[in-house]
Amino acid sequence: MKRELVFRISSAAGIQLRTVQRLKQIGILTTKRGFRESPNGDRFMVLEVQGAQVSDEELWNQVSEIQGILSLAHAGDLEAKKVQPAEDKATKAKPEFVPESGEAAIRDRMLIFSLLSRYPRLDGRFNEILTAIPPESRRERAIELGRGFGGYLARQVKPDKAPTKLSDAMTDLLIPALSPMTTLRLDGNALLIGDNRIDLKGKGHREETCDFLKGTITGLLETYELASLFIGHECRNASQGESCVFSFRQRPEVA
Ligand SMILES: [Zn+2]
Repeated sequence: MKRELVFRISSAAGIQLRTVQRLKQIGILTTKRGFRESPNGDRFMVLEVQGAQVSDEELWNQVSEIQGILSLAHAGDLEAKKVQPAEDKATKAKPEFVPESGEAAIRDRMLIFSLLSRYPRLDGRFNEILTAIPPESRRERAIELGRGFGGYLARQVKPDKAPTKLSDAMTDLLIPALSPMTTLRLDGNALLIGDNRIDLKGKGHREETCDFLKGTITGLLETYELASLFIGHECRNASQGESCVFSFRQRPEVA
């Protein structure tokens, strides 16, 4: 029996073939494929398929690593929403998934992909995600999500040569990854971050933003087994309008 699978996507490059191949591995055959855009500008890939019936979770496990896929969607997401602009905005502000529910790994991957699709302007989505987390665990979750985010960001930045010490990690990895979303300055072994596109505009600086950056830096460095380069962080924006300081050592510590 033929049926349709719908995926929300950020980029179309190479995505169809990869998805078709991944689906084949779990017994789903694609008979037709195409792209669609909803009236509010969201992009989708629509596949007509037949074969194995699998759960959404299994489906998501199989395709979530494909770059450009943000989430599973439904045919209803494609339809023209004949609503007033104000209402439309309210609909759009709702997250397309339920943050902080579902199996942890899948949930985190969906949250991280959804942040990656906004990169480098994370503010609105980061705030949405944070709001859905109970206040007492926000800081810890911000670090965790940052770490996963950093891991994926490292694959996007892809230094030509794997960095082995702080100087190349800075020029080839950390600065290219962080500078689109922060105002930063290198001062000796420290990175001073003065402003960013993660905090909500006009709402001041939050410690959770620095926690997310801490996680992101760790995730970026971990990709090259350089996590020990990062030694500490001091959040100073909140009180004095100063830069937050992220400190590093020159060479990784030998375990
Ligand atoms: Zn800070």
